[in-house]
Amino acid sequence: MREKQPSSGGRSTWTRRGWLSAAGTSVVGAAIGGADARAHEQATPQQAGEKGLPLRLTVFQPKSMLHVKETSVQRARFPVIDFHSHVSWRSAQRPRVPPSDLIKTMDAVNLHTMVNLTGGSGEEFVATVKSFDRAFPRRFVSMTEPTWTRASEPGYPTWQADEIAKAKTAGAVGVKILKTLGLYLRDGGPTGKLVRVDDQRFDPMWDACGRLGLPVAMHVGDPEAFFTTIDRFNERYEELGAHPDWSFYGKDFPAFKEILAARDRVFARHPKTTFVALHVGHWAENLAAVGEMLDKFPNVHVEIGARIGELGRQPRTSSRFFNKYQDRVLFGTDAIPLGIETPQQVFGEDLYRIYYRFLETEDEYFDYAPAPVPPQGRWRIYGVGLTDQILRKVYHQNAERVLGLKLITA
Ligand SMILES: [Zn+2]
Repeated sequence: MREKQPSSGGRSTWTRRGWLSAAGTSVVGAAIGGADARAHEQATPQQAGEKGLPLRLTVFQPKSMLHVKETSVQRARFPVIDFHSHVSWRSAQRPRVPPSDLIKTMDAVNLHTMVNLTGGSGEEFVATVKSFDRAFPRRFVSMTEPTWTRASEPGYPTWQADEIAKAKTAGAVGVKILKTLGLYLRDGGPTGKLVRVDDQRFDPMWDACGRLGLPVAMHVGDPEAFFTTIDRFNERYEELGAHPDWSFYGKDFPAFKEILAARDRVFARHPKTTFVALHVGHWAENLAAVGEMLDKFPNVHVEIGARIGELGRQPRTSSRFFNKYQDRVLFGTDAIPLGIETPQQVFGEDLYRIYYRFLETEDEYFDYAPAPVPPQGRWRIYGVGLTDQILRKVYHQNAERVLGLKLITA
């Protein structure tokens, strides 16, 4: 096991298959070795653990013996705006799931509006708006995205700012920044230099967003554990095993804190632009730091998508955070309508009910994702039981204010 452990230098030769098999070797199994390890290799998942056989971590699905309250929250107590969803896709103008199908689920769980962050740009964006926003007013609103492929071209800064203005005319309610910026986008092709989050060529774009009243939904960075060595101490070991390309450790990737510092310089340079730092400001593991960031930058909000696993395992700290920043936190899930690779994001009634249970109840020790094994890490969560006043803000009032739109009419 240890010799298989990838170093930053050797990772390029490490295949996805290799990763998956490495992740399948549990700490328990690896620690036993010898004949026991061979028996372990031969055991079927059904036999695993029987009669003292070693057990693979990947098949371990312990059932909690706690007898604690289980509240079923079928519908949100107040109408919800999901500020973080991906219902249309670039280079596929036709939605993979028709919006009318999405609406059935939305109605079932009191989800009033989905903010579709990845609406694309140019003609694609126009097509997105046509099939979603215009076809179902106030149920879907879409954001546009920068055209990263042109970022190295001369004249890009003003061209991009103008494109944002055109998208606003076409119906954009904001601009989405994917982690492309800071982690993938390079000048001069795939081997070129990574473009920094605070690169000055984007200043005209950030300013345009402020001038046009378009909030920027910003995802830069990722969970802190994605920036550390993948070894037995990594709390997202299995998740990184399933998604090896999510590791940003080594190579020429900036350190986690460098990305956040560059992002903060953007917040500081553009005080008239409203930013929504997605995934709890990309540091749900450190709410004290997120709080300091919010104290420093009144133009910034945060959104909770795909991070209730972090918030819910520190329920007391989270409660204080929701209380203190109740006007700055937006509901979001990072929902995508299809796919099984990331259960914590799969759009459906189950997903929303887990979020509602987390926010509305004080239930203890429940799953943060609709999956047999917690997909982001092997822990469970505790509800924060927000008050009605804070729930209304988090569910829709804060989003309406940030978007400058009255979406909930009932
Ligand atoms: Zn997302």
